[in-house]
Amino acid sequence: MSEVELSVVVPMFDEQEVIPLFVERLRPLAAGWGCTYEVVCVDDGSRDATPVLLQRLRREWPELRVVRLRANAGHQAAISAGLARARGRYVVTIDADLQDPPETIGRMLEVAREEDVDVVYGVRSDRSTDSAFKRVTARAFYRSIRALSDVDAHVDAGDFRLMSRATVDAVNALPEHDRVLRLVVPALGFPSASVDYRREPRAAGESKYPLARMLRLSVDGVTGFSIAPLRFATWLGLLGGVAAIVVLVYAVVAMLLGDTLPGWTSTVVIVSAVGAVQLLALGILGEYVGRTYTALQARPTYFVAHDSLVDAGTAPTVP
Ligand code: UDP
Ligand code: MG
Repeated sequence: MSEVELSVVVPMFDEQEVIPLFVERLRPLAAGWGCTYEVVCVDDGSRDATPVLLQRLRREWPELRVVRLRANAGHQAAISAGLARARGRYVVTIDADLQDPPETIGRMLEVAREEDVDVVYGVRSDRSTDSAFKRVTARAFYRSIRALSDVDAHVDAGDFRLMSRATVDAVNALPEHDRVLRLVVPALGFPSASVDYRREPRAAGESKYPLARMLRLSVDGVTGFSIAPLRFATWLGLLGGVAAIVVLVYAVVAMLLGDTLPGWTSTVVIVSAVGAVQLLALGILGEYVGRTYTALQARPTYFVAHDSLVDAGTAPTVP
């Protein structure tokens, strides 16, 4: 169906200052890739001249495709919209602000072909152009994700990456909302490699990622990749339930020893019994909620490398 070798997906939100610079740098590089390509710009509900600029560019750059979202949906959703439309055998996602150098795309493509991998992560070897605050919060974020879940996400990899058609199809097939792609992609377990690049300062305009958005991304990352917080609640419930039973037993023993005021025992017994039942039930409920949630995310539970049933003869011969 598709003849496009490489798709470049670019989310753009109010990037009028950056677009001319981005195009000026990307277009000559694209000519040198030596393959068919398309650039899929996702205008994430921009309120500035971004849509006008993109339409104008389209008239003289046939490889440019533009998707405009009706309202601002956010960085991750904008990339998702682009991934759903990209037709290439390989797809690169890159920021519009030139913080991810477009020169690296060619290297990613080379690595993907030479090492025959499905994903090539762009890894920021040098983040000195990011603020100290951003570096510290990013580190804390990836540390907690690694501790809480079993996703092996690279600490310095963002959303600058190349993916094969198989990977993009797998991402597109996931029904999950609020996907944090930089965690979802490693969780899919495709063979991968990485290339280092130097994170550059934003070419023009301002960051579209205020603190609130960064926090949102972290919360999505943790809740999307770990039911540890839910488990914690479950354990708290069980603990509370056990404590309530202990209180109940104590109240009955105290009554038998005649050491209580009339009415005290029945009150304590009722309160603790009801409390114990509620907390234990809540814990059980939590486990089922966790299972439902994981099932809804519909991520693969295992990855098949070779299957002699399907690919008879293509499996590697063991030396
Ligand atoms: N972006 C987007 N929608 C948003 C916010 C950002 O499409 O709601 C795009 C933005 O145009 C840029 C990329 O996502 O191409 C990264 O955003 P930005 O450079 O502002 O983030 P930072 O590098 O400061 O983390
Ligand atoms: Mg940026």
